[in-house]
Amino acid sequence: MNGAEEKEKNAELRICRRCLTRELADSARFSDVSELVAAIPAEERAAEQITAGRLSVCKGCERLFEGMCLLCGCYVEYRAAKKNADCPGHFWTSTGL
Ligand code: SF4
Repeated sequence: MNGAEEKEKNAELRICRRCLTRELADSARFSDVSELVAAIPAEERAAEQITAGRLSVCKGCERLFEGMCLLCGCYVEYRAAKKNADCPGHFWTSTGL
């Protein structure tokens, strides 16, 4: 497939690479991830505004694919909810999160 054909195919597919699991049509996957998040002990859980800020960074990141970070393989909603977690690319800390 040449570059023009590949570009045309990608335009037809219109894949959204930036969805969090909660935004995917596959809601069963969100249930699994949200159960993992709910199981994080309170003392290990990040403040909600920190989690939201981290997820905002993830949503703008080229490494996000269907809720998963392609650098580490984690579901970002789980990673972002943990107090001592960091982005493997250090994109969260570069924004003060
Ligand atoms: S954890 Fe970091 S590298 Fe991974 S998707 Fe989020 S911002 Fe991107």
